Amino acid sequence: MLKFILNSVSQENFQKVKITWYGGEPFLECGRIREFLKKMEDTKIRVENVFVTNGTILTRRCLNMLQDANVDYIQITLDGTKDMHDKRRIKLNGEGTFDGIVDNIITLVKQNFQIVIRINVDKRNKNSCIKLIEFLANKFDKRLWKSGLITIDIARVFGSPYSLSMSEFFEVKERMLSSAYDSDMFRAEIPAGTFVCFCDAEKSSKDNLVIDEKGYVYKCWNYIFGDNNAYGYLDTKGNLKITNPKSKDRYISELSLSNIMNDCFKCKWFPLCRGMCPDFRSRMFEGTEEPIYETGVCKNLVRNHVEFLLKLKLREAKYAESH
Ligand code: SF4
Repeated sequence: MLKFILNSVSQENFQKVKITWYGGEPFLECGRIREFLKKMEDTKIRVENVFVTNGTILTRRCLNMLQDANVDYIQITLDGTKDMHDKRRIKLNGEGTFDGIVDNIITLVKQNFQIVIRINVDKRNKNSCIKLIEFLANKFDKRLWKSGLITIDIARVFGSPYSLSMSEFFEVKERMLSSAYDSDMFRAEIPAGTFVCFCDAEKSSKDNLVIDEKGYVYKCWNYIFGDNNAYGYLDTKGNLKITNPKSKDRYISELSLSNIMNDCFKCKWFPLCRGMCPDFRSRMFEGTEEPIYETGVCKNLVRNHVEFLLKLKLREAKYAESH
């Protein structure tokens, strides 16, 4: 991977590389990551790192690695309040992981690392996720939320028998956001282009790759570790060898908006919604996700969510005027 980055940088004259360390569990390999980043330092190329971790391991070695790295943010998942989380995320010895993760978040925040608390919601944990907001509001100082040092990212569990429909998910998400808003943890914004989802997999870029530990290269990180889904690999000289162009092009052409969801370009909610991510599109057309595009439900979801955010914004403006 290092050779590939160095080759790409010298050929394309990149100034910056952004790496999302994802697993498995990246903090199990802090030593190797540190070694890799040290080698990158010699190149004078700016490296920005994002860590997606389960938050259970935070050794001195990890902290040293993080302190030396240029960390954009660290994403850590909680699956609900302690009782729910500890039923779903247990150690080999049967103990729960909630308290340890929260302690590790506190340690990281004290060292000024930006933390994104990811909350994956499904049918089984939705009520607990709503309660989790209250727990987090009380656990962490308001200033941390206001400054953006801690933020929440609410996501829908997909591809499970317990997945919520998109309508159900947005209902839960809005309850969580309302609660977060009332607790001063969240400011209502309506960011263009980030509504629902948008994914780099549909870009035909040479500089945006998902690479697994064996060097296989993928378009979508939902399907890593199954080399059947890889579209190529990095050879020992750091060259990208494409072995399955179909798997690559599927995201760019077959699943593109212009190919299967052309109406999105005429939709008044575009670009607030960009037609969801290609993996969701693929699942919708395979019949494993609710066909919200074909039924037009997608437009209601976007409209309702924008109205919800506008209401919060209006409340904010009224509050500011009266103080
Ligand atoms: S709301 Fe529906 S039609 Fe409009 S851009 Fe989104 S997915 Fe496409």
